[in-house]
Amino acid sequence: MAANGERKTVAPDQRCAIGLTFGNSYSSIACTIDDSAVVIANEDGDRQIPSILSYVDGEEYTGVQAKAFLVRNAENTVVSFRDFLGQDFKSIDPTHCHAAAHPQDASGSVAFSIKDKAEGDANTVSVSEVATRYIRRLVQSASDYLGKKVTSAVLTIPTNFTDKQCEALIQAANNADLEVLQLIKEPVADVLAYDARPEAIVEDKNIVVADLGGSRSDVAVIASRGGMYTILATAHDYEFAGVHLDKVLMDHFAKEFMKKNKDVDPRENARSLAKLKAESEAAKKALSIGTNASFSVESLAEGIDFQSTINRLRYETVARNVLGGINRLVEGVVKSAGLDVLDIDEVILSGGTSHTPKIAANMRNIFPESTQIQAPSTNPSAINPSELQARGAALQASLIQEYDTEDVEQSTHPAVTTVAHVTNAIGVVSVGHDGAETFSPIIAPETAVPARRTIHINAPKEGGDVLIKVIEGNTHIKVTKPEPKAEKKGEKDEDDSDFSDEEEEEDKREKVWKSGETLAEAAVRDIKKGSKVEVTVNVAADLGVTITAREVGGKGGVRGNIAA
Ligand code: ATP
Ligand code: MG
Repeated sequence: MAANGERKTVAPDQRCAIGLTFGNSYSSIACTIDDSAVVIANEDGDRQIPSILSYVDGEEYTGVQAKAFLVRNAENTVVSFRDFLGQDFKSIDPTHCHAAAHPQDASGSVAFSIKDKAEGDANTVSVSEVATRYIRRLVQSASDYLGKKVTSAVLTIPTNFTDKQCEALIQAANNADLEVLQLIKEPVADVLAYDARPEAIVEDKNIVVADLGGSRSDVAVIASRGGMYTILATAHDYEFAGVHLDKVLMDHFAKEFMKKNKDVDPRENARSLAKLKAESEAAKKALSIGTNASFSVESLAEGIDFQSTINRLRYETVARNVLGGINRLVEGVVKSAGLDVLDIDEVILSGGTSHTPKIAANMRNIFPESTQIQAPSTNPSAINPSELQARGAALQASLIQEYDTEDVEQSTHPAVTTVAHVTNAIGVVSVGHDGAETFSPIIAPETAVPARRTIHINAPKEGGDVLIKVIEGNTHIKVTKPEPKAEKKGEKDEDDSDFSDEEEEEDKREKVWKSGETLAEAAVRDIKKGSKVEVTVNVAADLGVTITAREVGGKGGVRGNIAA
């Protein structure tokens, strides 16, 4: 086991390297055979392996087997934990763990309370340990497949992973006895997978990579120039992704069920909900291939079996909000890169949700004819979006595995450059009369640096001292459940009759600011009645921050520097 901070390294001639994507929802393993990348199936025959661990009588299950336990062993089943690595408990979004083991606060970091041994009570297992156990299983599957011990891997990470998250991921892998050759950004892995095809013509181009996963959608605009990749802009969304499409189908089928079984809502019972969710995800995947999907669950709720079907058009109608959100996300990031859709040569659709034909069709509509849309339904030679990142990681691993660890850093650094940008928003917190803190952004997240912005804040009416707290902030999603409504009598069963209902019954989701680390606190003294305070934030190219606060029209003020 590697001690904290120490990196596990393996001599180049001792290495057996793979590419690994470890997502919140699914993971994949790839290796290269004769210079081409191949995604490996685990012992269950799965190439998309659910990132889940479950414990039953001290026995550890992973992947599809663990996922099945969400129905009857949810409390000892850990899901959606990748993003928790290296994060403080107070800054995580536990939404997706709702129907599984709940994240807990273990002295500020994240842990799960699970009964992972046959004897005794539940144990507190840190997220790092959970990740280690899960990665160990992935490595075991890869070793079994290859017939030799896998020692090393290139892993993919989202573009907004912090240094702490990267470090925690490396530690978790090292503790699973896996050397991390390199972490590469997910969209870059996607581009590598495409550019490595023998038929690929690697030319200067602007690429949009839409990585649409289970719990998050990440979009990047990448400039490819002379074989070097520059990330121009990125966007991250946690509101429009695969689970939200599942949710739409869960609501649809729950309503269908309730038409036949009044007063029995399968969403109100944990087991029924888990069954509904699993079958909705399966129906969703079926709708990517066929134009119809069946939905069938034995004993969905109160012992009642349920069967139904849905066609693709209906699905696309009930899912229109989520699909629309993905469109806006893609359009928005093109804009924030300072480009127009006309500037984009290629759109790479990556991640499981990218199998959805409507999403590819929407991209076809958003971008001009000249833009290549790389998705299974728009281009028969597109690479399976679920396999892209693992393939890219495997290709990178095969390129660098012969280098010594120090040379890996050197040899690959120039391949990807990133326009420096701030990850979090920078803003001020003001305290209202009721004591509630509100965050007002000054610099938006993902703003390219150098950047300088100024805002004015009202001082208290009576004047005096004003305390300014400049902090980092980011948005998160607040979900408000609608008020439960009684079913209207005499409602027709026709398809279009519940069209408007859905609109009303949808959860209210809003982005709210969440305060992060405090960068500076300053007191501006003796402000005149009715005056204002001007706060200027300046972020230099090296991400060093200078903050000045002064009374508008006043002399002096407070100034502070924070190194990058
Ligand atoms: P995240 O980290 O965002 O949670 P991930 O990167 O671990 O996700 P991916 O494998 O990229 O996961 O995407 C998983 C999502 O893709 C799931 O919601 C899954 O239901 C969905 N998905 C997988 N295959 C298909 C398909 N054929 N059609 C539609 N959706 C699919
Ligand atoms: Mg992903």
